[in-house]
Amino acid sequence: MGRRRRRVIKIVKKKMPKVFLCPLCGEESIRITIKSPGLAEVQCGNKDCELHKNKEEFEIGPSEQMVDVYCKFVDKHSS
Ligand SMILES: [Zn+2]
Repeated sequence: MGRRRRRVIKIVKKKMPKVFLCPLCGEESIRITIKSPGLAEVQCGNKDCELHKNKEEFEIGPSEQMVDVYCKFVDKHSS
């Protein structure tokens, strides 16, 4: 049951990093911005990365944080 995903969450839980590991380019350059309550934006800071140009928006629940957004993001790109 989602062992790999859990491992990622554990690493992130130790402290709250400002940047996350990008599933596409492998750099720690993912930035997550909470735009408004319920909407978060994800973008890779690596200019050579596809996700730099194409930032993505995710709907989030009231109790969800950056880590949760990151999990959704990784889920989407690791399949
Ligand atoms: Zn990237």
